Amino acid sequence: MMLITNATLITWEEPNRILENHAILIKDGLIADIGPQAEMSSRYAGVERLDARGQYVMPGNICAHTHFYGAFARGMAIPGPAPKDFPEILQKLWWPLDKSLDYTDVRSSALVMLVDAIRHGTTTLFDHHASPNAIPGSLDIIAEAVEQSGLRAVLCYEVTDRDGEEKTRAGIEENLRFIERTRHESVAGGRLAATFGLHASLTLSEATLEACREAALQAGGVGFHVHVAEHEVDQYDSLAKTGLRVVDRLHRHGMLGPGSIVVHAVHVDAREVNLLAETNTWVTHQPRSNMNNGVGVSAVESMMRAGVNVCLGTDGFSSTMWEEWKSAYLLQKVWHRDPRRMSGLDVARIAVYNNARLAGQFFPNAPLGVILPGAHADLILVDYHPHTPLTPDNLPWQIIFGFHESMVTTTMVAGKLLMRDRRLLTLDEEQITAKARQQALRVWERYGQLVTRDW
Ligand SMILES: [Zn+2]
Repeated sequence: MMLITNATLITWEEPNRILENHAILIKDGLIADIGPQAEMSSRYAGVERLDARGQYVMPGNICAHTHFYGAFARGMAIPGPAPKDFPEILQKLWWPLDKSLDYTDVRSSALVMLVDAIRHGTTTLFDHHASPNAIPGSLDIIAEAVEQSGLRAVLCYEVTDRDGEEKTRAGIEENLRFIERTRHESVAGGRLAATFGLHASLTLSEATLEACREAALQAGGVGFHVHVAEHEVDQYDSLAKTGLRVVDRLHRHGMLGPGSIVVHAVHVDAREVNLLAETNTWVTHQPRSNMNNGVGVSAVESMMRAGVNVCLGTDGFSSTMWEEWKSAYLLQKVWHRDPRRMSGLDVARIAVYNNARLAGQFFPNAPLGVILPGAHADLILVDYHPHTPLTPDNLPWQIIFGFHESMVTTTMVAGKLLMRDRRLLTLDEEQITAKARQQALRVWERYGQLVTRDW
């Protein structure tokens, strides 16, 4: 048991509440009680305390789409002319890079990203993993790192046909094996769940989609996690292969639905948006990645108006979710040349409420992403001192213009402290970073050989 005292609570209930001078009792991984400081202090006199010293205490952030394996891309040189478009970015950066990863690199990249998440207050992450030369067991290695970190995560392996039939089969097997594992045992104390990963329509044949659909049914009808129409080329490829647009194609294979996550959806048409809404499929928005790859802007406001559940992810950028909030907020305004676009309320709807509903599906034994009795105790302490009044009404804008991830001082998941006063408690940051720097040299060398051979 632990009593967090002297806290200003941001509950993220609907409607949201901000409760000053409050305390929270944590018990068995859950929030057990909430109340005014004085009352709670005498009610739980003997309980161990964590003094929040007036900081904001709020639910940890959730990242709906990331790639731990991309960690070694930071600072890596791409030889020759810079990739001119997204297909070249895949072929010249990501595909030779993921082929360069061995099991040690998979572990190391996951640990680096988990340190980053704890430090920046992101407590649940949806990872989309690829390591074509280290497929079997790769999800167990990531799971072990997540378990050690104390964070919460939903894992999958990106199935693709780009490396030949044997690796396609290995990818399907890896998803199936890990899904079965999470169904039959409580992995990392129930903090790990699984989806079925697919790279993208453009690297998947009809036969492979069919095999994935069958495997997912065999695994209890689990949903899919797949990149969709990130660039026009995904549509061109799908039309050439099947005469169908990407979302229609996935729909025909029975891959949409409330358990499935469609990533990006930048180049989808009105019918595809309706299909995503009708099937209650989740769409994740990654504005920093879209800007960086120059692929265009996802019409997330229109999708929400059509009834699509839009969530927010980072696509392998640092798990700094408020940075992603800012990008989502600014991008629609400049795209439409209209400062009224993308209200802070819509950003909060996506990043807070929808992300919590999505994550909640995978950890259904208690509410997630909200402060109320009975909810998962996934909390962060934020040392923010606003110079204007902070209210439930203006909180989204206080976050967009005032919050920084460096203000996160303490991170807790399932009632366990992972960082306290900026000191990491479960992972050795210095050692993980030093080891990753060594690994990076080897990964970069292998990447350099592959990219020079193919380009
Ligand atoms: Zn992605």
